[in-house]
Amino acid sequence: MRVVDIRERSVDLSRYRDPSIPSGGLTTSIVALTTDVARNGRPVVGYGFASMGRFAQGGLIRERFAPRLLAAGDVDPISAWTAMMKGEKPGGHGERCVAIGTLDMALWDAEAKIADLPLHRFLRQRFGNADTPVDVPAYASGGYLYPDDDLGRLRNEMHLLRDQGYDKVKIKIGAAPLAQDLKRIEVALKVFPGPHRVAVDAMNAYDARQSLEAAKALSRHRLMWFEDICDPLDFDTQALVAAAYDEPIAAGEALFSAAEAQLLDRHGGLRRDRDVLLFDPVHCYGLPGYLRIIAALEARGWARRSFWPHGGHLFSLHAASALGLGGVEVNPLSFPPFGGLADGVSVAEGRATPPDAPGIGFEHKADLAALFGTL
Ligand code: MG
Repeated sequence: MRVVDIRERSVDLSRYRDPSIPSGGLTTSIVALTTDVARNGRPVVGYGFASMGRFAQGGLIRERFAPRLLAAGDVDPISAWTAMMKGEKPGGHGERCVAIGTLDMALWDAEAKIADLPLHRFLRQRFGNADTPVDVPAYASGGYLYPDDDLGRLRNEMHLLRDQGYDKVKIKIGAAPLAQDLKRIEVALKVFPGPHRVAVDAMNAYDARQSLEAAKALSRHRLMWFEDICDPLDFDTQALVAAAYDEPIAAGEALFSAAEAQLLDRHGGLRRDRDVLLFDPVHCYGLPGYLRIIAALEARGWARRSFWPHGGHLFSLHAASALGLGGVEVNPLSFPPFGGLADGVSVAEGRATPPDAPGIGFEHKADLAALFGTL
């Protein structure tokens, strides 16, 4: 296929179900790629967005990556990656990885639509994982600190997630003092009782002392995992926590390349028998970059079941399904309209199923489809 037109726009993004609660000006990019391939008399259009948490990428897309993609001629998502990286120097991954990942998502959506297959089936054909089950283990993600009535609103959110059928949940810590976060964890544990049903995400907020203090306080709760503890590149602290904390740890969400992933593995003290790898298939330069990370860590002894990609949206779900990963994050309430599953679909027995429509299936999320339609 050739990409003949690229439209992009920055849009506001909220961590909350109620978008009027301030989210620090968070944004994301939405893109629409028009191809020269027609289906049912209309050109195939692929849609993508910049996942959650790292702000919009419009400048980079407009000035560097969209022009290269438009000039690349016939491409598939793998050769498009090479075209977009033309002239880029090695290193500096965080500067551009999300912009490329945004366009990459739209390329896969278009390719799968051209093949008339849901993306997870298209990826299975392409990467030879035909035997993995379509549905994947999933947990509900959310639990951001509320500006007022935090514990009451958190309790309400936990009940909503449980009522939607989720049996595991992840909440945020690290934005409030540890004593308050421990109360937040107790709120979540009341709704999701038992070991390994509640995970916490410190959003890389802790320094070395706070990391160890938190690890000590969290140990007795038998959490599903303790995520994003300290600065993503502070491997010394990461390793100290791993040595002191027996329960699972999750890391890698804010690392963007195979080289960084290997550094985490070499120096972060992670344990292959229990720890969780969160790399985001969009933020890691898209699927081509994510596949490199999987290959690099598999070569170092990691299993695919250790990968639980960050994102909480349909693209991560298709990737986890097709690649046989451990499971996925789902954002049923946060980051509307980008998070969660297709309209009217929830988890069944703790597992999520990607849409069966051609492509990623954004067309089965009415609010998101309408937003893409504005492009
Ligand atoms: Mg995280």
